[in-house]
Amino acid sequence: MPEPEPRRGARSTVVPLLPRVAASDRAEAGDRLPYLTGLADGVFAYTEPNRGGTPYSAGVVAGPDGVTVIGAAVPEARARMLAGAVEALDAGPVRTVVSTHDCGGHPFGSAAFPGAAVIAHTLARAGRDTGAALPSVTFDDRLTVHCGERRIELLYCGPAHTAHDVAAWLPGDGLLFAGGVVSHGTAPSAVLGSVEGMLRAVGTLRGLGARTVVCGHGRVCGPEAFDETEAYLRWIQSVALKGWSQELTPLQAARAADPGDFRRLSAGPERTVGNLRRAYAELDGEVLGEPLDARR
Ligand SMILES: [Zn+2]
Repeated sequence: MPEPEPRRGARSTVVPLLPRVAASDRAEAGDRLPYLTGLADGVFAYTEPNRGGTPYSAGVVAGPDGVTVIGAAVPEARARMLAGAVEALDAGPVRTVVSTHDCGGHPFGSAAFPGAAVIAHTLARAGRDTGAALPSVTFDDRLTVHCGERRIELLYCGPAHTAHDVAAWLPGDGLLFAGGVVSHGTAPSAVLGSVEGMLRAVGTLRGLGARTVVCGHGRVCGPEAFDETEAYLRWIQSVALKGWSQELTPLQAARAADPGDFRRLSAGPERTVGNLRRAYAELDGEVLGEPLDARR
């Protein structure tokens, strides 16, 4: 496994997880295994370097009474890998799972964290059938999770990457777990949320003054991820405005556009059309975050 780049303030960069990934889950890990990056005393980023061609990161915060996990809802096998990583820390049971968003229609992997409270935005429960794993605690705007002396401030940021994005801010550590709102090295996706809403959310999160940012879709990085996400979304808006004015379809607009530097972002080509569809809906004056009209 290549050494991940150490971040400013990292205490111990890598906790090896190879023995903790069950053989039955190895296929889920793809060709590169997950690792933990120490960010502050008891705070880690858990990163799967190659999840469908893009990295995925979650947060692990250890306190005196157990562990809080912060991340997107993922399928059960991936949640088990994450649970294995937490076990490797020997920091006690997972008491709380914060779901930053659900971009894949997955349940909350709660079987991997038995007994943990699952916290999500109110909209994450709406419309789900009660047979699915549902969040047990929901909130509308803000909620603080206390992990020992550490405060984890949960902020609703939607609609952005999805309708119900949540970011987790650790003010005492200058650390932000940005969920799906901020991307790094991979193209942001607003098809389930809002391009304009994501720009607003990035602005709000930038204002927190984080020194370290953990992107749900990306690796551990710094505040440069705000610029990267914002520049991409502004590009999408400019391509959309041009195509919409010329009455091109989003697909035609995508084909006519020059991605320039954004070519280096993983998942870029496949996300452009979806993001443009979302930006077109916003140019049409539709309510931000409303489900897209399937006919377009
Ligand atoms: Zn996502």
